[in-house]
Amino acid sequence: MFELPEIANLSAQINKTLTGKTVLKGSLGNSPHKFVWYNRKPAEFEKLTRGKKIGKSAPRGRWLFIPVQPGYILMLGECGGKALYHPAGSALPKKYHLLISFEDGSSFTVTTAMWGAMELYEKGGERNRQYIRGMRTTPVEKEFTQEYFSRLVKEVAGGEKRSAKGLLTQDQLIPGLGNSIAQDILFRARLHPRHPVETLDARQIRTLYLAIRSTVDQAVRLGGRNDEYDLFDHPGGYIRIMDKNAAGRPCPECGRKIEKIQYLGGACYFCPGCQK
Ligand SMILES: [Zn+2]
Repeated sequence: MFELPEIANLSAQINKTLTGKTVLKGSLGNSPHKFVWYNRKPAEFEKLTRGKKIGKSAPRGRWLFIPVQPGYILMLGECGGKALYHPAGSALPKKYHLLISFEDGSSFTVTTAMWGAMELYEKGGERNRQYIRGMRTTPVEKEFTQEYFSRLVKEVAGGEKRSAKGLLTQDQLIPGLGNSIAQDILFRARLHPRHPVETLDARQIRTLYLAIRSTVDQAVRLGGRNDEYDLFDHPGGYIRIMDKNAAGRPCPECGRKIEKIQYLGGACYFCPGCQK
């Protein structure tokens, strides 16, 4: 699944590659998929996108906003799989859930691996969509400051019981983070995934804040994780410290064996020596 670094990277690549192109034909795919969420019928999508120009896209959490101008916004959200650019004359993937062909012969496809939204809104309407309306600040925005984060932790600590992993991955408290990048953040912050949020002291909150910023910044700079693909079908350059290959290996900091637990909807890898 794409998390914020992959979405931010795709957005930057789209802006260099697709922005300014004119749509020849927009199509909602050639392979029915139960878990792709569309809000338009194929004929309607084709009609609304024809002749329109791609504007400058923007990432927001796990959502990508692509202006289809004038008047519309294409939203790709909560997606995994591949979002690819195809230069004129190159072959398209066999299966795709979205295809936009451009007047210059190039095209853009999205093929999801698990689920995902591919929706076209009249400009402004996208802001009312569930998960977008009321979305909190994401870690790549300048408003994501230490003060903001401390307030968020206090708010979360005053509510239902949450763990450090829950703070990072549940209910879009920090939009864009997912199970993958959260593991490296917790390792850098020296926090056990189950560490209760209400017991975090000021120093731990600061360390966690810095771990979020540095991990996300690094992953964005390196073009996303190396187990996901970019617009040109190249894997990202960010290699996770804590992933399935880490289990059983010595911790790079203290040498103790990395452990694996199932917790909050997925496998967690952590160092029992470093993460408390
Ligand atoms: Zn360790």
